[in-house]
Amino acid sequence: MNLRIGALRQVVPSSMEYAWGFVTAATPLEGARLHIDWIDAVIECEQGHRTVLDASSYLDLSCPRCDAPTRVVAGEEFQVVDLEVEAA
Ligand SMILES: [Zn+2]
Repeated sequence: MNLRIGALRQVVPSSMEYAWGFVTAATPLEGARLHIDWIDAVIECEQGHRTVLDASSYLDLSCPRCDAPTRVVAGEEFQVVDLEVEAA
């Protein structure tokens, strides 16, 4: 299964892997691979300044260049991209 998860979701990679193993154990999906694309958090202000946030700045969402308020343009994803199944 392929997932896209944004940095702002605060998902811990090792917890996600553990949960996947736990919910698929003893089911037809046991042993299935989980692949996660981690998406950086990106904010943009009204001037169009785009900034990739690092983990230490998730609580400060003002524009680092002009201090204006920003909106989040990436980083809130939590999507199933696809699920590959082999016929038995
Ligand atoms: Zn700005």
